[in-house]
Amino acid sequence: MPHSQLPDPETKNEAVSEEPDTVSRRTFVGSAALAGAGLLAGTAAAAAQTRQELLAGRQGANASDPGPENQPLVAQNPDPNLPPFTDHGNPGTLWYSFALTPRRLQAGGWTHQVTERELPLSKDLAGVNMRLTAGSYRELHWHLADEWAIMLSGKARVTLMQPEGKMFVDDIQQGDLWYFPAGLPHSIQGLEGDGCEFLLVFDQGDFSEDTTFLISEFLAHTPPEVVQKNMGWNRQQWDKLPPTQLYIFPGTLPGTLEEDKRALGSHLETEKQYTFKGMSTMKPTAENAGGAVRIVDSRNFPVSANIAAAMVTLKPGGLREMHWHPNESEWQYWIKGKGRMTVITTEGKARTVDFNANDVGFVPKMAGHYIENTGTEDLIFLEMFKASKFQDISLNQWIARIPDGIAEAHLKLPLSVIRQAPKDKETVLPG
Ligand code: MN
Ligand code: MN
Repeated sequence: MPHSQLPDPETKNEAVSEEPDTVSRRTFVGSAALAGAGLLAGTAAAAAQTRQELLAGRQGANASDPGPENQPLVAQNPDPNLPPFTDHGNPGTLWYSFALTPRRLQAGGWTHQVTERELPLSKDLAGVNMRLTAGSYRELHWHLADEWAIMLSGKARVTLMQPEGKMFVDDIQQGDLWYFPAGLPHSIQGLEGDGCEFLLVFDQGDFSEDTTFLISEFLAHTPPEVVQKNMGWNRQQWDKLPPTQLYIFPGTLPGTLEEDKRALGSHLETEKQYTFKGMSTMKPTAENAGGAVRIVDSRNFPVSANIAAAMVTLKPGGLREMHWHPNESEWQYWIKGKGRMTVITTEGKARTVDFNANDVGFVPKMAGHYIENTGTEDLIFLEMFKASKFQDISLNQWIARIPDGIAEAHLKLPLSVIRQAPKDKETVLPG
């Protein structure tokens, strides 16, 4: 049974150990029996009774839903439907899914996005999920935001030109990253096999993949005589240029990476690395029986100046420990598995949301949160920040370093109990 459904030991009775779907009148019989036995008298018991009532409210006939119900959505989102009794108030929307967003389908691939329009609290980051079939291009373009990317499936070739004219070119495969600073023009092309699918994260919440600067539109909206002065291409040649944007379009597979590099000669960028190989297979930054975390930020991927990332793997039952981030809000992409997150903000606002693959999560700046693997396989998700460095504050680590008297005064527990908690930041904890 997940911990959020466990009753307080003080108030435990047979009814509250029922699963939520085995709604039973014993819930009420149990409460009545406790009250009748005088076990709920006194201040502590009054608080316990409130919890008991909250638990009964989750599980009694009052929680049934005899009218219309979207059962597949409820099955995927059990916690909003029957919130843990500790949930309270409304901290805002913390969940969305790429599965709900319309895909822009074109010959050569597709794209869809989860931005501030879908998650209004997410002002820092926005996400785009894109597919390019083998040989197909994302048109040459640039944009206002920095672009961080992870390859989810397949392979791509990417190019980028720096302001001084050096050209970067590289091949990317599953688990690799790229980072393209704002304004620098770039291209992406799906490679042999089945092309690719990737996640893009931009450091602007209101970014839109539909509002990038495109080479086709720059040329199509420049008068032909100016193009002739600039490029030397005559009017007949101007007429052959794409009249509207290409955006995503089919192409033929390129030659080898080495051929492209050789062709660039002295114009090839060899110092600055805009790609990062194997985030998903690198040595974990931290690892234990609960899982692992792999952090990539400006410390090990220097061009990634404004976006920091952590890939978290949680074993079944494992917990991404209670923590918060002292710098920025958190934008999540769920890659694999199932999980649940509770976010606790100010004024006691707390909400629990469930996640599956291809979902997006959001944690407001500084808000406390944890994530539990509620599935039967490993859970993998990304924590993303508009920051140069990943930072988090571990609640356990803080409690362990608080002087004894202060800790006892705040937690109302015997010191012997308080000091049983982990002493250090574990990042992930076993179930
Ligand atoms: Mn781009
Ligand atoms: Mn976090």
